[in-house]
Amino acid sequence: EADITRYRYDVVVIGAGGAGLRAAIAAREQGKRTAVISKSLFGKAHTVMAEGGAAAALGNTNADDTWHTHFRDTIRGGKFLNDPRMAELHAREAPDRILELEYWGALFDRTGDGRISQRNFGGHEYPRLAHVGDRTGLEMIRTLQQRVVALQQADAAELGDPDAMLQVFAETAVTELVTDDSGAIAGAFGYRRVDGGFVLFEAPSVVLATGGIGKAFSTTSNSWEYTGDGHALALRAGASLINMEFVQFHPTGMVWPPSVRGILVTESVRGDGGVLRNSEGERFMFGYVPDVFRAQYAETEAEADGWYEDPSNNRRPPELLPRDEVARAINTEVKEGRGSPHGGVFLDVSTRMPAEEIHKRLPSMHHQFKELADVDITAEPMEVGPTCHYVMGGVRVEAETGASDVPGLFAAGEVAGGMHGSNRLGGNSLSDLLVFGRRAGLGAAARADDHQGSGVSEERASASLARALAPLKQGQGVNPYTVHTELQETMNDLVGIVRKGPEMEEALERLARMRERTDMLSAPGDRVYNPGWHLALALPNMVLVSEAVTLAALERTESRGGHTRDDHPEMSPQWRKVNLAARHGDDGVSLTRQPLAGIPSELLALFDDDELAKYLTEEELS
Ligand code: FAD
Repeated sequence: EADITRYRYDVVVIGAGGAGLRAAIAAREQGKRTAVISKSLFGKAHTVMAEGGAAAALGNTNADDTWHTHFRDTIRGGKFLNDPRMAELHAREAPDRILELEYWGALFDRTGDGRISQRNFGGHEYPRLAHVGDRTGLEMIRTLQQRVVALQQADAAELGDPDAMLQVFAETAVTELVTDDSGAIAGAFGYRRVDGGFVLFEAPSVVLATGGIGKAFSTTSNSWEYTGDGHALALRAGASLINMEFVQFHPTGMVWPPSVRGILVTESVRGDGGVLRNSEGERFMFGYVPDVFRAQYAETEAEADGWYEDPSNNRRPPELLPRDEVARAINTEVKEGRGSPHGGVFLDVSTRMPAEEIHKRLPSMHHQFKELADVDITAEPMEVGPTCHYVMGGVRVEAETGASDVPGLFAAGEVAGGMHGSNRLGGNSLSDLLVFGRRAGLGAAARADDHQGSGVSEERASASLARALAPLKQGQGVNPYTVHTELQETMNDLVGIVRKGPEMEEALERLARMRERTDMLSAPGDRVYNPGWHLALALPNMVLVSEAVTLAALERTESRGGHTRDDHPEMSPQWRKVNLAARHGDDGVSLTRQPLAGIPSELLALFDDDELAKYLTEEELS
């Protein structure tokens, strides 16, 4: 039988994107022995792919911006379903986290007078996104990794070993969390992708920072890693997931050629002046401004165009509505026959600014379209359509510490729920990673102060090992690629942008059958870099998470943010008070309804009564 290499740490962080790295830095700075594990190469995470920027009310480009307006925009974007405490901490602390990154060496783009420049993005009242061209995530990861290396160099000098206090385990995938008899975290079990060797990390504190679930859908901006591992590990360990019905479809992914369908076209294209048109040349977004946002958006093209130069005297263009609104509008245009030749709509920035300016502001987009679609975005429009991008739902955590319901288990970043409510604003993820990554790292370190962890028995480790080996031993079993394709089509077609009760019921039936088949997955070959085996281990996670998404989406009989019900188009004030929490038990996933915390009155005062009347119940209003 295969050997298991054991390690013991104070804090184990699973995931090396922005949230994981920031958590690891925080835990290490508290003097804790910390491991960071990532299933991809170190440095390759969604965070590195982030283009547009990180939202923080620095007030550099418009001095009127404050954390209060950032909080208000975030709550508006999430349609009042955000955890108010998380939204508050995020808005308050994001500026310090950005400045700290700069202190650690990040080189953001500059204003004329040398401060960090900020760009416009959907749903943000002021220019707020600190950015580096359209490669912001790259700079963020580079800086955080540099900070990790700096800490390791200090340890090498002082302790003679760079890994003494902070060690990175790249290309290592965690397949199970291990809990002790009391239900508290005892460790994490996984395998090395390169040679198939097994590893067991014992620790009193584990931070999940595994990112999203996009690979459960067929059209997605997400890359191969995003199989909902952290969401599923948390569920199986006894934690609850909230907001799982809210999946963000980014309005603009590439639609052509088929091999690149879903790849992201950054919102910066619209933030910097790109307009959306249908096949009739109409700037259709003017027809899709919902009542709740009407007061803040331009009614004519002249006003919308005027806003780029003079935002004080013009209202924002409707292309910059929150993502859910724009995605639904594009979906409708295409369905009603006004789409582009390959089933999207047109996005044009070429008429807004000269080619040199586009090269400077959107270098990656220019390169991406030229290389992948032979389209020159400085001279012609792009074809774009919605793509599954981000999951608002995730592990229910305590705002201050990132602690989940399972003692010793923490979560931060995309795998955590609550912060973004029913819809995330662009730019609010990168700032979320920094604010709550740091908080989860501190929370995990504090727990390690007075908990040793109970260790993991041989018996328990062998059981994890047997489950990991099962697909290799299953001779004539089910092909994981076949089930994965079925899953992606089911989620895309039946639990996608616009949902209907009977379709989701069918999805649940299909998912139940897929769940049975995942017990019989077979991946012939050995353990050395065997992608079929890797998929066989990740697929049950995607199926489990998809069940949580679908159950919650069926249960929530209203439309809000990233959840649109064709059969329940209204937004209901009663549902605004409810979080659906998914748990995992012997009978699979089940849901409970839990009350959502109210917004403190001093923050509620940021909104007009007219606006509140659209969201709150009569009782709350009085
Ligand atoms: P990630 O950065 O996704 O990292 C997850 C980590 O977990 C990886 O290291 C992965 O290897 C690891 N992992 C996963 N499963 C396992 C496992 N089982 N075992 C071990 N390790 C595991 N947001 C913004 O705010 N602004 C933007 O401009 C922006 N642009 C984006 C552009 C694109 C193309 C995409 C896809 C997303 C964009 N987003 C943006 C969203 C944002 O990038 C992500 O939400 C965010 O980076 C998630 O960070 P994270 O730290 O939670 O996880």
